[in-house]
Amino acid sequence: FSLIQRETGFISGLVAVLHDVTEQQKDERERREFVSNVSHELRTPLTSMRSYIEALSDGAWQDPEIAPQFLKVTQDETDRMIRMINDLLSLSRMDSGTSKIELEYVNLNEFFNYILDRFDMMLKTDNEQAGKDNNQSLPAHATHKQYSIRREITKRDLWVEIDQDKFMQVIDNIMNNAIKYSPDGGVISARLLETHNHVILSISDQGLGIPRQDINKVFDRFYRVDKARSRQQGGTGLGLAISKEVIEVLGGRIWVDSQEGKGSTFYISLPYQPLDEDGGDWDEA
Ligand code: ADP
Repeated sequence: FSLIQRETGFISGLVAVLHDVTEQQKDERERREFVSNVSHELRTPLTSMRSYIEALSDGAWQDPEIAPQFLKVTQDETDRMIRMINDLLSLSRMDSGTSKIELEYVNLNEFFNYILDRFDMMLKTDNEQAGKDNNQSLPAHATHKQYSIRREITKRDLWVEIDQDKFMQVIDNIMNNAIKYSPDGGVISARLLETHNHVILSISDQGLGIPRQDINKVFDRFYRVDKARSRQQGGTGLGLAISKEVIEVLGGRIWVDSQEGKGSTFYISLPYQPLDEDGGDWDEA
């Protein structure tokens, strides 16, 4: 405020300049959250790529079988990051469900194993790295946490129509959470099974668990049970919100079951139609 005061001392007017501070703060906050979300989502593919590149430079490049395979993974990961940035940009501009989705039939059994292999790989190179350079300053999130993945995955091929990149983003996010919100040395169980017309994938941890009153909110944008902890670990509270959007676009459902202090299980179910092997109905006699 400023007062317009005459020499006589009388106040003859009042000028008020009102900025819409709340609106500005909101924009500012959203911008900041967007930036940290991008960092969060890019960390996994980057760490994974670093592991493959390290393995290559440690000698795998000389192996004519492994080298092209590892190079392919880094190439795929680079492509995926570029596509992910585009997705995040469109997601940040509008949360309309209009972001492009590329559906294809994928053998979920094979694909889930591939995703988990990347986590095993990261753990392996992380451990090797830990032995080498202890004094390097690592982001809080990338501390060398020990965990093991136990797989209970059906042997059957399960062809499901998904968008591979987006689906991988969802699993990466749930796996990263399982690691983040678990104590050192925890076991993560990854399961995949089929029911009559669904596939059900689940990831269980032996971590903090989620308090009952928060359980329905963890899929909300920016919702975090413990904001300080989440932030310290590099979280933004957007991962599960994005995951939910993706799974719903694929016609599936995502939910969580958890016991505080014991652990959490995240479930994903997707519609699944077993392949009719003899072609059935359309055969002519
Ligand atoms: P963040 O970036 O904070 O991890 P998410 O959207 O991925 O964001 O998760 C939202 C919140 O849900 C987390 O901050 C955490 O409080 C809770 N959460 C998610 N996964 C787990 C888990 N496996 N165990 C315990 N809490 C979890």
